[in-house]
Amino acid sequence: MPLIDQNSFCKRRAGFLAQLEGNAAIIPAASLVPHHADCEYPFRQNSDFWYLTGFDEPDAVALFLPNRPLGEQYILFVLPSDPSLEVWTGLRSGVEKAVSLFGADIAHPIEEFPKLLGHYLEGSSGIAFRIGKHPKIEPVVLKVLARQLDGVQRSGASPLALLSPNALLHQLRLLKDPCEIDRMREAARISAQAHELARASVRPGMNERQIQAVIEQYFLDQGARGPAYGSIVASGDNACVLHYTSNNAQLIDGDLLLIDAGCALPDYYNGDITRTFPINGRFNAEQKALYEIVLEAQELAVASVVSGQNAESVHQIALQVLVEGLIDLGLLKGSVESVIENGSYRHLYMHRTGHWLGLDVHDVGAYRLGDYPVQLKEGMVLTVEPGLYVSDRLAVPEGQPQIGEHWKGIGIRIEDDVLVTLSDPEVLSSTAKKDIDSLEH
Ligand code: MG
Ligand code: MG
Repeated sequence: MPLIDQNSFCKRRAGFLAQLEGNAAIIPAASLVPHHADCEYPFRQNSDFWYLTGFDEPDAVALFLPNRPLGEQYILFVLPSDPSLEVWTGLRSGVEKAVSLFGADIAHPIEEFPKLLGHYLEGSSGIAFRIGKHPKIEPVVLKVLARQLDGVQRSGASPLALLSPNALLHQLRLLKDPCEIDRMREAARISAQAHELARASVRPGMNERQIQAVIEQYFLDQGARGPAYGSIVASGDNACVLHYTSNNAQLIDGDLLLIDAGCALPDYYNGDITRTFPINGRFNAEQKALYEIVLEAQELAVASVVSGQNAESVHQIALQVLVEGLIDLGLLKGSVESVIENGSYRHLYMHRTGHWLGLDVHDVGAYRLGDYPVQLKEGMVLTVEPGLYVSDRLAVPEGQPQIGEHWKGIGIRIEDDVLVTLSDPEVLSSTAKKDIDSLEH
């Protein structure tokens, strides 16, 4: 499947430029992050920068200048070609390819950024730059801004405004175009298949780490960059730790195994899937009772991912089923409304039911605008991931029943990646099985 082509990036830049309204935007790339001594973490591009440029190298800056004439509106500052450094750290595209391959109108070596920024900002009414995130670039931007502010008394120019590009850019990223949706389908396909392989590999006595290896081996084999986030392979009570990543316990006969794992593609689109199933192939009565509740909550919530609903309403649909089920089992008491109203379910369900998914696993985009929840629209992708976690870690709220020992050590989450369409939701991760018959053997 082809990566996102340059035409898509070109269209995104045009859309972004058209909405900047006379403001320049400065979008920096990521830098390498030290791991230890001379080693660095694998490079991870800044998703905003990637979305607009498709340029996958560190220490670059993209400038967007809607007030300049055509041919001077998209400027890239990049690390220049340097064979003596490239033999150590890998090939750089350099200034020429920033233009010929990546579509920049003009490109410069990054070391010229401090000298040229003031010149390029002439004629702009403001600077869209996210303060607090880019420690190498921010002092340069602030220095240019301060110099301009110092000069307005004599120059007669209006002082440059400083604003954040996030609301505009993240609104664009929230709505996936057809190319992006194809890539999200591919990320979900690989991730879902890895879950199927993992479940087929599980035997009592294995180590969580060995299942992690099955999953991540498949990601790489299928051409993914690797895991999108630290894979969670959590057996028994470990599944009640939401972000468990130690993955080093033995799989016990009779426990459940929760796997929350997804791949990141080379162009950074992500899958994020959770499945929970019995290690020995048979649910016990308590596990099955809780699993059925989570599955019903998840399926109803997924079905509600349609235009006009919102992330909050999806959460409320899942929550309603979870609380009803827990009351029926005697793990909560009171009316559904009162339990939800006073939050006395939170020792058993302590997270929200999903998040936007895209270039970031917890993707950008507002959930609320002022008093109103953001309505779901065709092209948005979100996860739907209710769960139940029964352990001793959180105190039982006053007035709620203590939990019998036979319930403890059960953690269940079911998570799918769901695309909002003009009609029914498309579950991108549907090939990962979740019905009880498929999980038992
Ligand atoms: Mg997840
Ligand atoms: Mg998730």
